[in-house]
Amino acid sequence: MTSPFFERIVVVGLGLIGSSLARAIKRGGLAGTLVGVDASTAVRARAEALGFADRVLADPAAASAGADLVVLATPVGAYRAIGEALAPALKAGAILSDVGSVKGAVVKMLAPLMPPGTHLIPAHPVAGTEHSGPDAGFAELFEGRWCIVTPPAGADPAAIEKVAELWRRVGMKVEAMDPAHHDLVLAITSHLPHLIAYNIVGTADDLEAVTKSEVIKFAAGGFRDFTRIAASDPVMWRDVFLNNREAVLEMLGRFTEDLTALQRAIRWGDGAALEALFTRTRAIRRSIIDAGQADPEEQKRRDDAAAAAARNAAARR
Ligand code: NAP
Repeated sequence: MTSPFFERIVVVGLGLIGSSLARAIKRGGLAGTLVGVDASTAVRARAEALGFADRVLADPAAASAGADLVVLATPVGAYRAIGEALAPALKAGAILSDVGSVKGAVVKMLAPLMPPGTHLIPAHPVAGTEHSGPDAGFAELFEGRWCIVTPPAGADPAAIEKVAELWRRVGMKVEAMDPAHHDLVLAITSHLPHLIAYNIVGTADDLEAVTKSEVIKFAAGGFRDFTRIAASDPVMWRDVFLNNREAVLEMLGRFTEDLTALQRAIRWGDGAALEALFTRTRAIRRSIIDAGQADPEEQKRRDDAAAAAARNAAARR
């Protein structure tokens, strides 16, 4: 019998991402023993009922003793306390990783806690939904998506490769990036869009001239899509903005300038400027679809439409 990829894996935080990872590890037989940890009694009870971990514990330090890999999958704001609790329990050679949506702050927080001979290899699987909790997770969440591994300078290449390979084995494509650069890239591709969604839905909710029931009744595609993003977990997103402050503020500055330019174009009736931008942005959407990174439903709609077109063409021949 071949030995599992890691003898003992601990996943701390059994919500959407943690429970999806646990399910994918179990499905792939990647751990000899998989231990789940969560602070919430209700989440632990659900995790036990769902059976995606071999054991479910409350104490991260007890769980991490003897672990080969510990993955933090709680909101980033909880990392420091969890890290302080579990780091002294890590054995020599153990890897501490995570799935957090910000990386510079994570390295800053956790690196000083690492005992000698252990490895800190943070990662960010760029995959998710707007749902939370252990019931929302599923093993296929990571398939075909990118995982960004962000080792601190001087990290052990063998430990980096081990973490990268784990994510490959759950279906992800892996790229390594400097933590600060990750934070800039994600600020524009994920964090700012969430901020805009939270803001536009909040603004609509605060309007007086247009009632809330009208907003809900006449929610057209654009607004409806924003409400899906704005339904994302409030604690997770609070921690993203608190821990990626500089990069988000930098991108927000650029965004505000560009928005002001659009405001001027509308005020002065500059249709050419509007059309030029809208044409440019349409091409970006096309590139995302071509790269296979559109949302799965959209991708399926497109695949179905292409298949139907091919069938029609064949029938006409
Ligand atoms: P989630 O569904 O809310 O799960 C987080 C889990 O961690 C919850 O069960 C929570 O319990 C538990 N928890 C909170 N504090 C804890 C502590 N001190 N000790 C142990 N468990 C604790 O959130 P998620 O969406 O999986 O996000 C988890 C991480 O993944 C975040 O760092 C986020 O940045 C990252 N991420 C998220 C996405 C996404 O799309 N959602 C994508 C990529 C990465 P309670 O519910 O009782 O607090």
